[in-house]
Amino acid sequence: MERTELNTLGEFGLIDRISSKFTSQNHETIKGIGDDAAVIDVGDKFMLVSTDMLLEGIHFDLSYTPLRHLGYKAVAVNVSDIAAMNGIAKQITVSIGLSNRISVEAIDELYEGIRFACEDYKVDLVGGDTAASRSGFVISITATGFVEKDKIAYRNGAKPNDILCVTGDLGAAYFGLQVLEREKQVYLANPEMQPELQEKEYIVGKLLKPEARTDIIHELNELGVVPTSMIDISDGLASELMHLCTQSGVGAMVFEDKLPIEDQTMLTATEFNISPITAALNGGEDYQLLFTVKQADFEKIKNLSDVLPIGYMTANKTVELALTSGGTAAIKAQGWNHLEK
Ligand code: ADP
Ligand code: MG
Repeated sequence: MERTELNTLGEFGLIDRISSKFTSQNHETIKGIGDDAAVIDVGDKFMLVSTDMLLEGIHFDLSYTPLRHLGYKAVAVNVSDIAAMNGIAKQITVSIGLSNRISVEAIDELYEGIRFACEDYKVDLVGGDTAASRSGFVISITATGFVEKDKIAYRNGAKPNDILCVTGDLGAAYFGLQVLEREKQVYLANPEMQPELQEKEYIVGKLLKPEARTDIIHELNELGVVPTSMIDISDGLASELMHLCTQSGVGAMVFEDKLPIEDQTMLTATEFNISPITAALNGGEDYQLLFTVKQADFEKIKNLSDVLPIGYMTANKTVELALTSGGTAAIKAQGWNHLEK
């Protein structure tokens, strides 16, 4: 029997391979694999279902991740996937894999973070599962949410000339991770050293305590604007934009000088000698929303303080960055590929 290595497919290739072997058997299943959340017809609304798993050593390092933050983040990233469908999360289930390295007090801390997030996002913890793990700590959360049927935003609805918008700023979490990794190495070499995190609160905070942009979903709803397509940025702008473009059958032009990058991100980029633009495009873990709106709708949202137009969609299928120095460069998806080692 032939053996194919996982890295020849990559994460997205593997998901395509799995999904190609299934067809929906229930008419209530409106959208299965392939968007930020599954879409289920429950009568007058659509129900949304999304799940995300975080693994110790892959997604977080317990030596610098407070469990309270981890609990909060695990909820926020799921709420973010529901938001990416233009929906509001309502319930979560939480499954944990525990090793005996984890104390009861540590679990209390984790659930304190989960409870804070439940309060912030107004979601209810309604179940889960608890099991033993031999290979580190695992937390997997499933969120359900709802959206009015005429307000749902898929990844595949972008049209040429739609305005491409992003919320908040990009690249901060990536540099937050670089800083924490650097301080960890310093500490391992000399445990007497105190971590140097002054003036890094913003970027470290973006990594450890990301917020789901449910606020934006409420604002869009109040202004009567439904994005033509939407995705949340977990793997980096480039990778998520490729998903919008591929699924919508369009291209995009993004302006380099419009990419929102905070001062602390810029300064840390210089310190690490890494391009802030590369981090904004490929860093990941921003959990901002990337969406497209019709030009007429952009007029209605242009005054929102935390929504920024960064480009527009095109009929040709190329995805390009208009460089500040002139000319263009192709945008390639280089998001995290956990299966590539
Ligand atoms: P996101 O980054 O928004 O969480 P993913 O890239 O993880 O999205 O997943 C893309 C799509 O593939 C989603 O619809 C997700 O439910 C589905 N998916 C991911 N892994 C699997 C799997 N092992 N089996 C079935 N569906 C999967
Ligand atoms: Mg997503």
